[in-house]
Amino acid sequence: MGKVLIIGCGGVASVAIHKCCQNSEVFEEVCIASRTVSKCEALKEKLEKTTKTKITTAQVNADHVEELIALIEREKPDVVLNLALPYQDLTIMDACLATKVHYVDTANYEPEDTAKFEYKWQWAYRERFEKAGITALLGSGFDPGVTSVFSAYALKHYFDEINYIDILDCNAGDHGYPFATNFNPEINIREVSAKGSYWEDGRWVETEPMEIKRVYDFPQIGEKDMYLLHHEEIESLALNIPGIKRIRFFMTFGQSYLTHLKCLENVGMTSIEPIMFEGKEIVPLQFLKAVLPDPSSLGPRTKGKTNIGCIFVGKKDGKEKKLYIYNVCDHESCYKEVGSQAVAYTTGVPAMIGAMMLMTGTWKKAGVYNIEEFDPDPFMDALNQWGLPWIVDENPKLVD
Ligand code: NDP
Repeated sequence: MGKVLIIGCGGVASVAIHKCCQNSEVFEEVCIASRTVSKCEALKEKLEKTTKTKITTAQVNADHVEELIALIEREKPDVVLNLALPYQDLTIMDACLATKVHYVDTANYEPEDTAKFEYKWQWAYRERFEKAGITALLGSGFDPGVTSVFSAYALKHYFDEINYIDILDCNAGDHGYPFATNFNPEINIREVSAKGSYWEDGRWVETEPMEIKRVYDFPQIGEKDMYLLHHEEIESLALNIPGIKRIRFFMTFGQSYLTHLKCLENVGMTSIEPIMFEGKEIVPLQFLKAVLPDPSSLGPRTKGKTNIGCIFVGKKDGKEKKLYIYNVCDHESCYKEVGSQAVAYTTGVPAMIGAMMLMTGTWKKAGVYNIEEFDPDPFMDALNQWGLPWIVDENPKLVD
């Protein structure tokens, strides 16, 4: 069918690349390009004996549009899948525009120095993508991504109107370290130490970090503490789900994680303000990242499951209706299959599926779109086929 250029070769990219290689009919060629090309080469060497997909590698600094344009012109991919960091979204979108190639990512743009993620920067590209006749598919991970597709699917098949969405992200994995993050520590800590917020009655309601706590009994896992966070899919779902009154996002955290985080915050280690250290400017959070366990090293140690999904409350045929759609993923099974734990797996699989939707022309609309703006059905089928089967519960316990 075609060729994908994957930018980044970290935890999420590694899973997406494994999955593209399992799906050789669609992904005949994969070019893996990242800043550290040795990581791309190591993955190529591991995978090329196991797949019909042709794998090539390249070095690129995705902060530089000219380098990206030269790479895209040389490799001639049908789709660029951005699995580097949110800081690179705009430069990669610029390069896709210049070369007229479809764009897919899993996280919205965030300027490196402000820790504020919003869609406004990427939505500003709408007209230019439309004119160029190419698609930018935003947020094709799990959350955002699958949770947004679950919302579109619930609206299409179960509701006339959805009024309340609670997105619940539970990771009950245990890696045995007192403190580690399951994906890029810098991105993860920026997210969880920020103020929380939710959408209610047409406006944002802001909370202190971790101010709102609930306990939920997760299917196949059990009771866990979860905390309200700001999360990027709320912003687009608030616009794309008609009749919505409230959207909240909760993530589970264990007490040990929170105690360590509080301590690191209190001593200034999570700050993104540069400081001078021995004559050199360093960012405390980036230094912290360097001393924490590399998320990719957690794979072989992590046991337990994740459960991520959405609880919907709305109306069908004039009656109130509730619905819970979720996926349960097992860390050890993921590791056995692709050598990564479930957090990278649950993001890498939908990233591959999003690229497949554009590659096959299943989703075809020129412009910049969030994932819930497309027909959810082929994506939902692909989740079942490619390792993230989902469950529908029509009588869930609600979060108060
Ligand atoms: P990692 O830190 O493991 O990997 C990031 C990769 O990007 C590395 O290979 C890194 O290269 C590369 N990279 C960083 N900067 C550049 C650059 N300037 N040019 C080229 N390559 C670069 O991150 P993850 O795999 O954990 O996360 C990847 C993305 O997925 C992030 O945007 C994250 O926010 C998103 N994500 C989305 C989720 C969702 O559900 N939607 C969930 C989890 C993550 P190098 O090795 O040289 O540093």
